[in-house]
Amino acid sequence: MHRNIDIERLCADKGLRITEQRKTIARILSESEDHPDVETLHERAAAVDPRISIATVYRTVRLFEEAGILERHEFGDGRSRYEAASDEHHDHLIDVETGKVIEFVDEELELLQRRIAEKLGFRLVDHRMELYGVALDRNR
Ligand SMILES: [Zn+2]
Repeated sequence: MHRNIDIERLCADKGLRITEQRKTIARILSESEDHPDVETLHERAAAVDPRISIATVYRTVRLFEEAGILERHEFGDGRSRYEAASDEHHDHLIDVETGKVIEFVDEELELLQRRIAEKLGFRLVDHRMELYGVALDRNR
């Protein structure tokens, strides 16, 4: 989901030193509308600046993740995928045949999860929901 998140500004807010290469990686992440893994990010970053190594991309996403700027996901294939952390919550449905990731928000589901937590004596502060499915109509 494209959220127009200014990762560069977030870095500044969190006191992260922003180098030219980190800036490039931040910009690519901000502009990503999918959930790229490190290899895909590296491909996109290297297209802009061929000096950016995959090790730099690894270090940078780890740094951004630790700072709470990025969210890491694993959609069932053991690969870490990243997206800019957002105040607007959403969940994911993964097409197990194509690997396509669809984002959704469902108020009923949100309410149900809060109720379950409350029933168990908790106030819900976070959750992760991943649905895995096969398209009913592949031509849709
Ligand atoms: Zn997402």
